[in-house]
Amino acid sequence: MTRLPALYVSHGSPNLAITPQTAAHRFLAGVAAALPRPKAVLMVSAHWTTRAPVVGTAAKPPMIYDFGGFARQLYEMNYPAPGAPEISRRAGALLAAAGLPVAEDGERGYDHGVWVPLHIMFPGADIPIAQVSMQPLADARHHYAVGRALAPLRDEGVLIVASGSMTHNLRAIQRDGLDAPPPPWVTGFVDWMHDKLTAGEREAVLDAIDIAPGAEANHPYDDHLLPLFVALGASDDGEPIRRLHTSYEYGVLAMDTYQFGS
Ligand code: ZN
Repeated sequence: MTRLPALYVSHGSPNLAITPQTAAHRFLAGVAAALPRPKAVLMVSAHWTTRAPVVGTAAKPPMIYDFGGFARQLYEMNYPAPGAPEISRRAGALLAAAGLPVAEDGERGYDHGVWVPLHIMFPGADIPIAQVSMQPLADARHHYAVGRALAPLRDEGVLIVASGSMTHNLRAIQRDGLDAPPPPWVTGFVDWMHDKLTAGEREAVLDAIDIAPGAEANHPYDDHLLPLFVALGASDDGEPIRRLHTSYEYGVLAMDTYQFGS
């Protein structure tokens, strides 16, 4: 079976779902066509946070509208893709084999970090979705270890999609400025990450929260950067790391998507 890559996708604002004119939306709508069709997608969303890793084993995960104050249209959206309990359990077994504590949640649905990008990438909702949670109290290297443990799934027809945001300072969002130009403290961080990722400088990337310019301003909480380390961990040293997309929304949300492995 062809080895699939892992992706880190910036899901931005929930409005991404209903702004088809944006560069990020148009990019995501075309990304699946460039990949072999996966037998399942394993989502690692910044919006499912637990103390230790949990795998989602619901057969029909319900929708979660985990945001407030947005357009009614968003609360009426549905993404009926089936769950992938057997893939989630396989992920759990891989995590356990790597010495990571893991639990199952048979109720977990699709938060907007899952359904906003997936309904654009796979609008047919016909690919089963497995899920693994994030641990925002843990660091980059923990999430790198999670990715390392999950890497064998790439050889089993599973597309690993880590969903976060390359920059994520919500206090600085320009709510009326979908097209507002990004300030230098945002682009400086994005450019630094691009340089280190595409050069394969894994140690620097893993230290980004401490050493990248503007890291604290762009990630007052690092929950939306941490999924990046899962995708990085799911690729081997020497595998290519490519930026598939970059754009900015609301001035401070970098919409970068990276592909790890070919
Ligand atoms: Zn988010």
